[in-house]
Amino acid sequence: MAGSEADLVQSRLSRVRIILINTTHPGNIGATARAMKVMGLSSLHLVTPKIFPNAEATAMASGADDLLQSAVVHDSLDSALAGCSLVLGTSARLRSLSMPMLDARRAANQAIAESDSHEIALLFGRERYGLTNEEMQRCQFLVNIPSNPEYSSLNLAQAVQILSYELRIAAQGGVADIEVDPLDWEPVDGQQMERFFEHLQQTLLDIRFLNPRQPKKLMMRLRRLFNRARPDQNEINILRGILKASQEANVAEDRN
Ligand code: SAH
Repeated sequence: MAGSEADLVQSRLSRVRIILINTTHPGNIGATARAMKVMGLSSLHLVTPKIFPNAEATAMASGADDLLQSAVVHDSLDSALAGCSLVLGTSARLRSLSMPMLDARRAANQAIAESDSHEIALLFGRERYGLTNEEMQRCQFLVNIPSNPEYSSLNLAQAVQILSYELRIAAQGGVADIEVDPLDWEPVDGQQMERFFEHLQQTLLDIRFLNPRQPKKLMMRLRRLFNRARPDQNEINILRGILKASQEANVAEDRN
């Protein structure tokens, strides 16, 4: 690979953030660092790891301990998603809630196609039970590594390895039969989406459209709708403006 081409691959990969959520075994964090570094990824974020830093993590990183040292530890997923406008959640199971799904290869190509304009987050769940529904609802897509349907759950770091490999292949120019059109608008990041959903939920409660005893299904569906649309800053401003005006009209009506 020529020098400038290698730089391009590296700069694409540098904008993909690997986020491990609430990891139990420090060895998996170390093995993840190694899996990433081998493929040229460098941005590791840890949300409330059970044990970190730790000697077992360093041992398993086996020379990739620079990634452990630069790993960013967060106390919430929200903070880990700052600046990420595409959020992909990996899952061993195909959930009942039908969310847009991508296989690992397609997901990697989508991520790289968008990496020129914004940061990408790839979420990995807990060893025992993966991602929670709330965490999945912060994603635009769920990503599945095709596997044996009778035994579909990979070791966490091995799942990171496969996705990192696919990301590298995509960053190097991808596979001929997978083409992804890059977006021609700039979606807002995961934190802004969350503030919008909070505002939406509060407004729906205020105007008594949402039943506080059964908020889950409706909010889940609305999240899915807006996550599919991937609004940009202008659109979010309009939507928030509508919510604010509805809340004010509602207060005025209550007063009368
Ligand atoms: N029992 C859990 C699996 C946890 S495996 C569950 O059913 O969800 C730990 C993590 O590895 C998962 O949260 C996911 O991030 C990743 N992973 C494991 N197998 C995967 C697969 N086949 N496809 C995508 N991600 C996978």
